[in-house]
Amino acid sequence: IKKIGVLTSGGDAPGMNAAIRGVVRAALSEGLEVCGVYDGYLGLYEDRMANLDRYSVSDMINRGGTFLGSARFPEFREEHVRAVAIENMKKRGIDALVVIGGDGSYMGAKRLTEMGFPCIGLPGTIDNDVAGTDYTIGYFTALETVVEAIDRLRDTSSSHQRISIVEVMGRYCGDLTLAAAIAGGCEFIVLPEIPYTREELVGEIKAGIAKGKKHAIVAITEHICDIDDLAKYIEAETKRETRATVLGHIQRGGAPVAYDRILASRMGAYSIELLLKGYGGRCVGIQNEKMVHHDIIDAIENMKRPFKGDWLDTAKKLY
Ligand code: ADP
Repeated sequence: IKKIGVLTSGGDAPGMNAAIRGVVRAALSEGLEVCGVYDGYLGLYEDRMANLDRYSVSDMINRGGTFLGSARFPEFREEHVRAVAIENMKKRGIDALVVIGGDGSYMGAKRLTEMGFPCIGLPGTIDNDVAGTDYTIGYFTALETVVEAIDRLRDTSSSHQRISIVEVMGRYCGDLTLAAAIAGGCEFIVLPEIPYTREELVGEIKAGIAKGKKHAIVAITEHICDIDDLAKYIEAETKRETRATVLGHIQRGGAPVAYDRILASRMGAYSIELLLKGYGGRCVGIQNEKMVHHDIIDAIENMKRPFKGDWLDTAKKLY
């Protein structure tokens, strides 16, 4: 290969810029050329790309978001749309593509590889919901953000003897909620991996009140229930004022923490190593602190993310 493309796709995450920088600098140091694609698969289809040199990624390692932009582009599921994208890359002499995104973006990378265009996927999402890696780029930064928010809620809910419900991102993965709950000292945790009933939750909160807890913070992952309804139910059952807070897109922003920058840099450089060895259709991960790569199709279809049941047990013991 002589020239590679790089894009960011799907939900943005802190550290994506550091990953782009890692890809660009590693590629240049191996004598490859790099082309940046704007707005994910949409820009690939619309042929919006520009060559990147080492200064294109200067002052990027600490910046949140993605300077290449990201987009949702459902049309990329159609083969004729992907054929145009491949044609656009071939015209520019691009031989391989690095895709930074979540598992939706991996699907696009998988399809391109199946059509004969080699792609490498890097896990960029705050949700930590990608198989084949212990951690995704952006997760540790979002975790700090959520813990800071919980700390603030704790101050105010303890002053008012109030119950707070805090909704955390993660799509269908409870990792961010669980880790933030432990770090934020929340014993009431509702996760997508564990079946829950609001009656049971209220039972736990009431037991806490009975033993003298002045306030309670419930950490819950998004998409499980309407948390305003849940707040009304808890208030009616416990007679304690209950407020719901959706943290929302705050969780996606901010300068990446050091670990995300290191992860992004290592993964970016590793993707170039793999391409130079002739690999395509692989996704990069970190497992037990080592860089690893798996077949994208295998990761999407067969690998399951292990649930940290022991973490939840620990959190409950600290009740
Ligand atoms: P994430 O990558 O964060 O999981 P999405 O699920 O929105 O985000 O996926 C990002 C983009 O990846 C989509 O907007 C689409 O362009 C592309 N994509 C998702 N699924 C497929 C698929 N089955 N085939 C081709 N492209 C896909």
